[in-house]
Amino acid sequence: MRVGLFGGSFNPIHLGHLRAAEEDREALELDLVYFIPAAAPPHKPSGGLAPAEHRLAMVRAATRGNRYFMVSEAEVRRSGQSYTIDTIRYFLSTMRGQPDLHLIMGADQFAELATWKEAEELVRLSNLAVHARPPTDPDSTPTNYLATIAHFGYTRDQDYYVHSSGHTLSFIGTTFLPISATLIRRKIAARESVRYLVPDDVADYIQRHALYTSL
Ligand code: ATP
Repeated sequence: MRVGLFGGSFNPIHLGHLRAAEEDREALELDLVYFIPAAAPPHKPSGGLAPAEHRLAMVRAATRGNRYFMVSEAEVRRSGQSYTIDTIRYFLSTMRGQPDLHLIMGADQFAELATWKEAEELVRLSNLAVHARPPTDPDSTPTNYLATIAHFGYTRDQDYYVHSSGHTLSFIGTTFLPISATLIRRKIAARESVRYLVPDDVADYIQRHALYTSL
C-alpha cells in the first residue's frame, strides 16, 4: 500500500494544503493520504496556535469529501513535541502489511530537513515527496535544495533521486496556491473574509468557535 503522510500545524488547514495533497496523491499514485496535525510543531513558536482539538476538527471537516484523504490523531495524542521520525515509526509499526510511506512536504520544509530529529533515519525509512512550483525538471532544481540532496547522499535517477536505502526523493510540480495559514489568521483578526481560501466548512467552524480573532 502506498501511503502519503502529510504533517503540519494546519492552523488552520487551507486550500493550498488540500490542492497540493490531491496533486501529490495523483502524481505518486498513493492509495491514501494521511493528514497529521502536529500537537506542538518543533519548528514553530506556539503563540497563535489554536488548540489541537480544533485544528483536528477542521482537518476532518476539510477532508471529509475525499475518499483518499484520512486524518491521523497520532501526533495530537502523543505527549510532548511532534517529531516526524516518531510518526513514521508509528505508521510502520501499526499499519498492516509493509506500507510504502511517502512523506509529503512543501519546499520550505525540505530546505530545513537536515535539522530535523534523526533526519538520517527518517530518509532511510521513508520516501520523500516535495511539492514545489513547476517546473520539476531536476536540471532546474533550486540551489537551496541541492545542499539537502547532497547532505543525505541521494543520487539522481531519471526524474527523481534515490537514497542508499532504496527510498526515493521526488519533486512534484503542483499548482501552487499562494495561501498560508498566517494569511488566513491575519485576515480573520482583521475581520476580513476567508471564503474561497479555506473550505466553507472550515470557515464556518472558525466563525462558530471564534478562532483567530486576535493575533
Ligand atoms: P503558517 O502560515 O502558519 O506557517 P502554513 O500555511 O505554512 O502555516 P503548515 O501547517 O505549516 O501551513 O504547513 C504544512 C505543510 O503544508 C508544510 O509542508 C508546508 O510546506 C505545506 N504548505 C503550506 N502552505 C502551502 C501551500 N500554499 N501550498 C502547498 N503546500 C503548502
